[in-house]
Amino acid sequence: MKVISIAGYHHTGKTSVCVALIKELKKRGHSVASIKDIHAENFTMEKEGSNSWRHWEASQNVVIARGLTETYQIWHEQLSLQQMLSKLDADWVVVEGMKTAALPRVICASDETQLDELIDDTVIAISGIYGNDHSSYKNLKVFNDKSDIGELTDLIVNKVFEVLPLPKPECCGECGMSCYEMVGAIITGKRTRDDCKTDRNLDISIELDGKKLNVVPYVQRTLKDVILAYMKNLKGVKEDKKIQITIN
Ligand code: SF4
Repeated sequence: MKVISIAGYHHTGKTSVCVALIKELKKRGHSVASIKDIHAENFTMEKEGSNSWRHWEASQNVVIARGLTETYQIWHEQLSLQQMLSKLDADWVVVEGMKTAALPRVICASDETQLDELIDDTVIAISGIYGNDHSSYKNLKVFNDKSDIGELTDLIVNKVFEVLPLPKPECCGECGMSCYEMVGAIITGKRTRDDCKTDRNLDISIELDGKKLNVVPYVQRTLKDVILAYMKNLKGVKEDKKIQITIN
């Protein structure tokens, strides 16, 4: 799954860029899901006192509310990006907002002050209001979300890589940097996606119902040591063999 963030301050044209990009990716045959990060303090899809609210009060767990044309799954908490992505099934996810997430991003801005605040190594392009009358800023190309959306999509398709596993920062750091820094390092060509040690070149892999789980390196090493210590005591087991364990 590939994930791109369209980030920037309020009223800089983020939603227009997201909508144009989603349509263009779909036109090219990709399945696309999206995430809209909402900062309004009082935002809620739920109504206090509603029947589904009362279900949650009783269970303190996820509630599914099903109507005739829509179904909502309601968590009464803010999910992490990793948690949200694990519930989506699509070739691409377009995220509106989340400017501090470890994702490649297109920045939407209305002026250079905003751009200077937001540009770092994770940024691959500029769009939004600034794209109405500019074609470049510093070393980045600026795209108009109407006339240049094909070109912007080409760039995104070429530059964006499979999303990093995004564990909590305290869980990993195995590559010598944070996931956020790794995104910038891959975009600037200093590292490659294979340099992430959590889901590539693994010591051990675990599948749940045929789906590979991301296991942080510390847990990989611990499990591997325990299994190898046990296997060494079995007669006829050679260390260079691949071991497969299935738990039904
Ligand atoms: S090894 Fe991968 S998951 Fe861990 S911090 Fe580096 S990029 Fe992130």
